[in-house]
Amino acid sequence: MAQKILITGGAGFIGSNLCEYFIGKEYRVVCLDNLATGHMHNINHLLKNDAFTFVEGDIRDLETCKKAIEGCDYVLHQAALGSVPRSINDPITSNDVNVSGFLNMLVAARDEKVKRFVYAASSSTYGDSESLPKVEDKIGKPLSPYAITKYVNELYAEIFSNTYGLQTIGLRYFNVFGRKQDPKGAYAAVIPKFVMQFMAHESPVINGDGNYSRDFTYIDNVIQMNELAMLTDNEAAINTVYNTAVGDRTTLNQLVGYIKEELSNYDSAIGDVEVIYGPNRAGDIPHSLASIDKAKELLGYDPKFKLQDGLKEALKWYWENLK
Ligand code: NAD
Repeated sequence: MAQKILITGGAGFIGSNLCEYFIGKEYRVVCLDNLATGHMHNINHLLKNDAFTFVEGDIRDLETCKKAIEGCDYVLHQAALGSVPRSINDPITSNDVNVSGFLNMLVAARDEKVKRFVYAASSSTYGDSESLPKVEDKIGKPLSPYAITKYVNELYAEIFSNTYGLQTIGLRYFNVFGRKQDPKGAYAAVIPKFVMQFMAHESPVINGDGNYSRDFTYIDNVIQMNELAMLTDNEAAINTVYNTAVGDRTTLNQLVGYIKEELSNYDSAIGDVEVIYGPNRAGDIPHSLASIDKAKELLGYDPKFKLQDGLKEALKWYWENLK
């Protein structure tokens, strides 16, 4: 019988890509999602596959978590309310989902005795630390409610590893982008939002002067990290956290330049769309760049997509699917 994975948040951007990938690899996959920010259109094509089960439910309910995890070998926990501004506007709901929901999933995973619990952590855990590149064991103070929730996840995971022997690995994602990332809504991530605006010949607004930088990470690198974390048999590699990034830094101005240039190949008028500069956003850190040495050394991580390679793929997808 094929191994079975529970992917929470499996109707969202990263989760649906994981569902698709692991169904392609002939695993059985259970997707648990309450569709708060995820969409059925991300997973509809998988529903006809007998190896795929969709459970509409909320991780804030322990019984739902326990039912969804029955018979699973692994958990890839992605369900959470993302976005720093969302957590600033509504810290209680972000905490309920990201902390209480996370704890429910840990309890369910412990009771089901799964082989491993891999979870989405976040680069926001580096908080106000100014050191670059970011190294896993050197973090600062959180700068937002969201960052607190993601840091608490790491603390709980470590306690569950030490106290109950649950094998856990946290993946600190750095600005992930790629196919299926939602461009809509007040809390949309910067790349899909800008892409949709350029395609509509509207000027995107950059928060600040555009010199803030990020380690933008293409989805396929993130899939690779999840697979490595789920399957590693290196004892030294478990019960810890990893930067999940490329190890390169790109400013917002550079990013916009790349997007414009690439999209101009599809529609030359996009080359004339200007950007607008607005105020900096609360809770944003100026620069983010990961060291990926730990993941390379302990997991054998080898990211195949640099920013521009990933952007080409992502922009092609947005042009073909959402133009
Ligand atoms: P997403 O919003 O597309 O996916 C999150 C999914 O979780 C959605 O499908 C949503 O419906 C589901 N969900 C939310 N609340 C739920 C609940 N109470 N019960 C069940 N399901 C629920 O976001 P994403 O970008 O795919 O993020 C996935 C994970 O990665 C999140 O944990 C996020 O915090 C983390 N992360 C993402 C990034 C990034 O750059 N995208 C960076 C750092 C961390």
